[in-house]
Amino acid sequence: MTPTLLAPASQALLARTPYITAWEYETPVQAPLVLARVWGVPWGIGFGKESLYDRDINRVLWSACGIMPGRGRPDYRRIHPQRQRRCMGSLLCQVCAGRADETEQGLLWLLDTEGLASPVPAEEERTTHPPVCRRHVGVAIGLCPTLRRGHVLVRVKEPVVAGVHGQVYRYYADLLRAGRHFLVPDGEKQYVNYTDPRARWTLAGQLFAELHGISPVIGDEYDAILREVSPA
Ligand SMILES: [Zn+2]
Repeated sequence: MTPTLLAPASQALLARTPYITAWEYETPVQAPLVLARVWGVPWGIGFGKESLYDRDINRVLWSACGIMPGRGRPDYRRIHPQRQRRCMGSLLCQVCAGRADETEQGLLWLLDTEGLASPVPAEEERTTHPPVCRRHVGVAIGLCPTLRRGHVLVRVKEPVVAGVHGQVYRYYADLLRAGRHFLVPDGEKQYVNYTDPRARWTLAGQLFAELHGISPVIGDEYDAILREVSPA
């Protein structure tokens, strides 16, 4: 790392970079996982030394990541776990972390069509994208590779933050050495509801929300929102 690369980004770049985007030097921290026990019984996964920020209010363990917003370049392919958690947990705009736009039809949301079963969203969907305010719809589409490939703009009446998207682990006892064990990833990263017992065995990377009461934003309203440009 050179002092030049670590120089703070310009205010203009900071202002137009989505709040949930990870920056170049915000690298994942590969903290070794350990088996957490309760009364001596395997309970889930943990870190050897945990801080208050390593678990959310549902006691799910979260991926650790450096916090250096504005240092280096924004990496639009990566989402910062803790900032996404803050935005989605409080249903804030994914770009500015301010209030998401809301009308009688609900909160404004951008959904990537890759995550939908059909190009038209169903009455209920789930997403890891936090909502958005009107002036940052265009910014979010322009900077998010997934949204750029395909998106729909919707209003959501009843969003429910329901769980995490992350890596589930399995626990195996070592039959050859008493007291030893293995923790191994269980398939690909997946959605795990907080009510699922596997949540205790999941290393979370993002929160997801279940979206109930979806109505598409189309026609003149869609065009008007897309024309709004962030003053930043
Ligand atoms: Zn915003």
